Amino acid sequence: MEITGFKQSNKANFQPGRKSPVQYIVVHYTANRGDTARNNADYFAREETKTSAHYFVDEKEVWQSVKDEDTAYHCGAKTYKHPLCRNGNSIGVEMCIWDKGGKVRPGTVEKAAEVVRQLMARYNVPLERVLRHYDVTGKNCPLPMVENPSLWEDFKTKLKGVENLLDYPDWALKTYQWYEDMPEWARESVQKAVKRGLVSVGADNAVSVLGANLQTLVYLDRAGLLDK
Ligand SMILES: [Zn+2]
Repeated sequence: MEITGFKQSNKANFQPGRKSPVQYIVVHYTANRGDTARNNADYFAREETKTSAHYFVDEKEVWQSVKDEDTAYHCGAKTYKHPLCRNGNSIGVEMCIWDKGGKVRPGTVEKAAEVVRQLMARYNVPLERVLRHYDVTGKNCPLPMVENPSLWEDFKTKLKGVENLLDYPDWALKTYQWYEDMPEWARESVQKAVKRGLVSVGADNAVSVLGANLQTLVYLDRAGLLDK
């Protein structure tokens, strides 16, 4: 993931290590007008707040404040709405820059979605385990997405492609060596790609193509890029 920088949170604000692997991603917003990812990272490095988050995101930057393998204090509470999601098994992502109009800026939402997509892929977190802070404890966070649930639905729509990745069909995960073994829809395109030297052929005439790349070769073929 492309993070702008890592600035370790003050050690009073997090717990080294975690109780269980990452199973949930919790989305927050900082509720501070005009703040940035950078100045949140600075703030949590300096101050003892007994609170923290792993990532702070604004329109342009992503600052990490607590390592993924450590426990941030981002969704702890006395009572919970959610039966399972806790600090010990989740990653907290904070959206910064609350506009004057009381909205998180679209660029920040886009960037946060990018970060969450990458975390979903890294830890195999399915869409139903991406939660608002509100879903975990009932706190009104991120407020715009609690007041207007359709904004949360929009956000989750941006994460949908990743679910397909987690659910990759079997053929996508195989390495194909022989045309006969490949799905029929891919064979001709792979043959063209071999001719063009995009796919190398071994001494025994075997090719080696990861199934997940077959679709790309077919797209290139359809675009006429393998015909020249
Ligand atoms: Zn929150």
